[in-house]
Amino acid sequence: MEMKELLEIVNNCGFETVAELDVSTLKALLEVREMCAVNTCGMYGARWSCPPGCGEIEECDAKIKKYPRGILVQTVGDIEDSLDFEGIMDVKKKHDERFYNCTDQLKKVLDDMLPLGDGGCTRCKECTYPDAPCRFPKLASSSMEAFGLYVADVCKKNHIAYNYGPDKMCYTGCFLFH
Ligand code: SF4
Repeated sequence: MEMKELLEIVNNCGFETVAELDVSTLKALLEVREMCAVNTCGMYGARWSCPPGCGEIEECDAKIKKYPRGILVQTVGDIEDSLDFEGIMDVKKKHDERFYNCTDQLKKVLDDMLPLGDGGCTRCKECTYPDAPCRFPKLASSSMEAFGLYVADVCKKNHIAYNYGPDKMCYTGCFLFH
């Protein structure tokens, strides 16, 4: 499918930013992946989408490199300040809804696609990790960071902002495809 048509689908998903992604700017870095181990989100070792369940960094790098095209997306929302936890969570919820909806839309037209979101996969309330296989392997999404991508750098190299100021919260994701 032509990039123009794919961009149209993604543009209809409500994101504040939609931009064609230059996949040559994607580099899986072990030092980014290692930040997951701090486990501020509580998903490290608890979801198939997150380390170590999502595979070694080399495997993630190989998966990224399979795809010659991509689209970057962002949800940008208002918050009072960096301590506005409720506001931050509202923006995150909005981003995840858009991201999962967009993944589902793109899956209808793309046979092979890798969605990388912002945070671990929350499609199921309880993940099957590590006792049983993922329930939706074609729809589950890891975070860009779990795949070692330094998101601020990816944004910069693709000419989109990453930090929108102290009263804004931004969540970034991408879709990679053939
Ligand atoms: S789709 Fe469900 S089982 Fe698979 S990684 Fe996401 S939460 Fe876990």
